[in-house]
Amino acid sequence: MPNLHQKAIELDKKDLLAHFRRRFTHDETIYLDGNSLGKLPKQTPEIVAEVVNQQWGSRMIRSWNEHWIDLPNKVAAQIAKVIGANADEVFVGDSTSVNLYKLAFAALNFNTSKNKIITDSLNFPTDLYILQGLVQNQFSHVLYKSAFMYDMKRINDAAHKHNSLVIWDLSHAAGAVEINLNDTNADMAIGCTYKYLNGGPGSPAFLYVRRDLQEKLVNPIWGWFSHQKPFDFGADFTPNDGIQRFAVGTPSVLSLAATQAGLAITNEAGMKALRQKSITQSSFLIELIEQYLIPLGFTIASPLEAEKRGSHISIQHPEGYRINRAMIEPKNGSPSIIPDFRPPNNIRLGIAPLYNTFEELYHSVIRIKKIVETEEYKTFGVERLNVT
Ligand SMILES: *Cc1c(COP(=O)(O)O)cnc(C)c1O
Repeated sequence: MPNLHQKAIELDKKDLLAHFRRRFTHDETIYLDGNSLGKLPKQTPEIVAEVVNQQWGSRMIRSWNEHWIDLPNKVAAQIAKVIGANADEVFVGDSTSVNLYKLAFAALNFNTSKNKIITDSLNFPTDLYILQGLVQNQFSHVLYKSAFMYDMKRINDAAHKHNSLVIWDLSHAAGAVEINLNDTNADMAIGCTYKYLNGGPGSPAFLYVRRDLQEKLVNPIWGWFSHQKPFDFGADFTPNDGIQRFAVGTPSVLSLAATQAGLAITNEAGMKALRQKSITQSSFLIELIEQYLIPLGFTIASPLEAEKRGSHISIQHPEGYRINRAMIEPKNGSPSIIPDFRPPNNIRLGIAPLYNTFEELYHSVIRIKKIVETEEYKTFGVERLNVT
């Protein structure tokens, strides 16, 4: 047995979080895409079935008072723990893109002495599009391609010195790295729950606004759920005086309910321990890549220093797209391995410390090595699928 295989086995044995893997659904597929869509917690189908059959099916509209109207706040309290904020600074609902629009618009209108938005050209495209649409201060905490991680406190301090506001996009950070919005005096943040938080496809996003800023910022979308008293059905708009002013309309109850199990598991494991394991895993993955893939023409496109990266490693190869396809759809009985692909030639290997094992990382790298050595990737075309 090669010694890195032995090392993987030993690291799995020593892993204090290993038991959390059993809380998720698995088959023989090796899943390295938890940074795009987290896995299904075993408890989630039970929760959703209860909401559908009992709450909706039996109790019908009475469930709004019995369960649903408080659900966004319950989920917000779970998310607040993950991102180091107070529960009354977090709103859950809408998508990350829409929440970015709300906060960026609000920040521009508040800070009228400022006429510049600084973003990062490597930012996730939706962020760039939303800002392009508005333009006429937004950074991601962990970059989606390279996993490069910014120093949140340094950027907040620098921005505040210049009287500027910062909006953090935590989509690739929440559940992957330790975040402390309160300790770093962050102004605003947004993020999604379907990646490392395992909330399910298209699950509602979150938005954070520091307490003292809430009353100063105006949500550009005035909906009845942002009203101080939605159920008075008044004709004129009065914004809620808390975080709820950033809501818009009726919460998506089914997908909101589905986020609860993943968030509970994350908080049970704790972000400190999860980050620790993620660093050990990504460092081990780099060691594997250096030993087996660099000699085959791969390069590592993520920071080598652990404190500068999130929880995925991007590798590049001129045949990246076809190698990625061969990993997902093996034609020789090998287990399927699911990473994801980002143009032009990045294969992202996502590590979800709640359920990925060290042995999975070992087998994935050995499989990539075989795909390249045997030229198995050449059996795939170069045309791109719709969702990569
Ligand atoms: C995944 C991701 C998004 C997704 O936005 P949606 O509105 O949920 O489609 C936005 N920003 C970043 C940085 C992301 O990683």
